[in-house]
Amino acid sequence: MGKASKDKRDIYYRKAKEEGWRARSAFKLLQIDEEFSVFQGVKRVVDLCAAPGSWSQVLSRRLYVPAKMSPDCRDDDLPLIVAIDLQPMAPIDGVIQVQGDITNARTAEVVIRHFDGCKADLVVCDGAPDVTGLHDMDEFVQSQLILAALTIVTHVLKVGGKFIAKIFRGKDTSLLYCQLKLFFSQVTFAKPKSSRNSSIEAFVVCENYSPPEGFNEKDLYLLLEKVGSPSGVDDLDCRSGWLEGPNKIYIPFLACGDLSGYDSDRSYPLPSVEGGGSYRSLDPVQPPIAPPYKTALEMKKASNHGIADMDKLPLDS
Ligand code: SAM
Repeated sequence: MGKASKDKRDIYYRKAKEEGWRARSAFKLLQIDEEFSVFQGVKRVVDLCAAPGSWSQVLSRRLYVPAKMSPDCRDDDLPLIVAIDLQPMAPIDGVIQVQGDITNARTAEVVIRHFDGCKADLVVCDGAPDVTGLHDMDEFVQSQLILAALTIVTHVLKVGGKFIAKIFRGKDTSLLYCQLKLFFSQVTFAKPKSSRNSSIEAFVVCENYSPPEGFNEKDLYLLLEKVGSPSGVDDLDCRSGWLEGPNKIYIPFLACGDLSGYDSDRSYPLPSVEGGGSYRSLDPVQPPIAPPYKTALEMKKASNHGIADMDKLPLDS
């Protein structure tokens, strides 16, 4: 698909370039905020799986830049934003970047060090593995990322804090809801307008972090495993048997963003074409610095050379 054709078919891709966002995902976080006011009172944020950085840009523009511009804000009072990804990303005003793996236990320590031992008000995670198209497999790998994010949350989030994470809707969504309800008094699944209806992607918005009394971070997996199992912990909201029949739980699911706003599944005419002029597509704001596909392309190129060279070999060699 050409750039102009993609601009036409994907209004959020075009708008992202026009508004200076590195990725169209920026609109998802903005639309979640429209519904849940997730940035209210936030001073410390962790952005997990942040590259190429459009969510970090949103955090910077909504939290850091206004504070920096305010004459009353001292330097030691500026919001702190820590962004983590396997991949490097180009710098963003007020964002501390850590290149690392969120499934690594030491990642939480690195974050805490940046916050001088203080806890975060908000943790966001837009992490996604490379999708295979096999829904069960994609959902499973995605749930492993959410578990890694939740592990970090239990170490770095303050009581009362919020957590937002990308999920893939599937048969285990109810289980995930119940697991998250152990830690947050309010859990809502949200579908921003900018997330295509055809995609199984959604976001879980968890409010008011309140881990069970006496909770020890080391016991996280033990506790999660008990949810929904026949020997499940008794005092949970979601008890065993919740998946079926009269005990079935209904998960709060909310569409967010201006519902009369742009529809991500629709094509829109290109602006200057409407006025009779020719349309010039903008370049992406910030291409990834070292995307994995670069290595893959280099490897393919090298192997193609290999095959070409082999072709030149005599048949009996
Ligand atoms: N929120 C980002 C933005 O707005 O630009 C987009 C995130 S992109 C959809 C998913 C990211 O998850 C990729 O950059 C990928 O490198 C990252 N990722 C996947 N697994 C990870 C892991 N185990 N640790 C850290 N980052 C990971």
